[in-house]
Amino acid sequence: MSELMMSARQLSKRFGGLLAVNDVSLDLWRNRIHAVIGPNGAGKSTLTALLSGDLEPTSGEVVLESRNVTGWSPNRLARHGLGRSFQKTNIFPVFTVWENARLAAQSRDPHTWHWFTGATSLKAVNERATRALELAGLLHRRDVQADAISHGEQRQLEIAMALATNPKVLLLDEPLAGMGVTEAEKMVSLLTRLKKDHALLLIEHDMDAVFALADQLTVMVNGKVIASGSAAEIRNHADVRAAYLGE
Ligand code: ADP
Ligand code: MG
Repeated sequence: MSELMMSARQLSKRFGGLLAVNDVSLDLWRNRIHAVIGPNGAGKSTLTALLSGDLEPTSGEVVLESRNVTGWSPNRLARHGLGRSFQKTNIFPVFTVWENARLAAQSRDPHTWHWFTGATSLKAVNERATRALELAGLLHRRDVQADAISHGEQRQLEIAMALATNPKVLLLDEPLAGMGVTEAEKMVSLLTRLKKDHALLLIEHDMDAVFALADQLTVMVNGKVIASGSAAEIRNHADVRAAYLGE
């Protein structure tokens, strides 16, 4: 049985006169990928920011494991199992792959750097960072400086950094952006592996990847959900074809 991990409940976000997210509800389940698609400006990144605590909704609720977490800070949400990767890269270029992963692992619980608990938690931090790099397929690159790895590997590193915080839910904003075919295939198999232990929200433009990966899709246009359902349902949805696929 799949477990409901996170929900957006009638979320709206207004920027001045613009309703960037307009009454959006969706559920994220453990072991499932929920993809949100839609043209540029549809409100996908804003929706992600509302779920991650980077933005406060104008109205509506964010629920994480049955708790109302609306208005919680990104750090507090991270400590309660929310991980995310960003559309814009979040890597420290002059640090090694390992150092980046370790910083991310450490950010999960900065209080563990207390003098007394330092020794044991350092071990836990190192283990989290190693496991994250392994899962992301980057352990063999651990000693390379982050700006010397390929673009695809940098996107894998961003996901490793999210994994290093031990999340239950992962919000991924365009993890395949700018990738070539081989890199995209690698990322698709990584995302498939992540399903095993996580609930995933996937914002993605690559429709082949989306239809290969998503258990459920939500289509947004101008801040609003115009359709929601399985890949097959969305593929054949007349409004989606008209509004989004340009038919
Ligand atoms: P998407 O990720 O689907 O391309 P966004 O969520 O980035 O869309 O943007 C949705 C709309 O909200 C766009 O019209 C964008 O210009 C606007 N927007 C996004 N962030 C802000 C902001 N901080 N202030 C004002 N307008 C914003
Ligand atoms: Mg976006």
